[in-house]
Amino acid sequence: MIIDFSTLQDGVHKVDWTGEIPGVDLIYPEIVAAIQVRAKIHRLQEVVTIRAALRAQLERPCDRCLRPAVLAIESSLYVVAKLRTGLSAAEMGDDGEVLISVDREESMVDLTDHIRESLIVEVPMTILCGDDCKGLCPQCGADLNEESCSCRWQSE
Ligand SMILES: [Zn+2]
Ligand SMILES: [Zn+2]
Repeated sequence: MIIDFSTLQDGVHKVDWTGEIPGVDLIYPEIVAAIQVRAKIHRLQEVVTIRAALRAQLERPCDRCLRPAVLAIESSLYVVAKLRTGLSAAEMGDDGEVLISVDREESMVDLTDHIRESLIVEVPMTILCGDDCKGLCPQCGADLNEESCSCRWQSE
């Protein structure tokens, strides 16, 4: 998601964006998440404030049985960007906002990395296909959601 300062006028803008970003799930970084962004962008001369609600959804293997599991998470993003002469840089502000300096010549901000980072922290430790997933038998590998096996560990 790219914000172009050169076409952004002073005032409040509502910008929706949908797209795909990989790397949200650190266990399966190659899997691409479907992303929905609803942003409110406020520009006053050289300063642009972006507040956005984020939603992400992706499908990846269940941590217990390896069948497909859906991960759906929500997060938010707060970015303050300032147009300057010189290098572009990003740092964290006191209220958890991302502070960005944007080179006047480039006048563009790519929010992709910031969207990804804000979603990564919302990914739970364990992702299951369902709350009642029984997983795989540690001895024979049978999917205990679909069959029961006769391995001894179960009866003990
Ligand atoms: Zn499962
Ligand atoms: Zn078994």
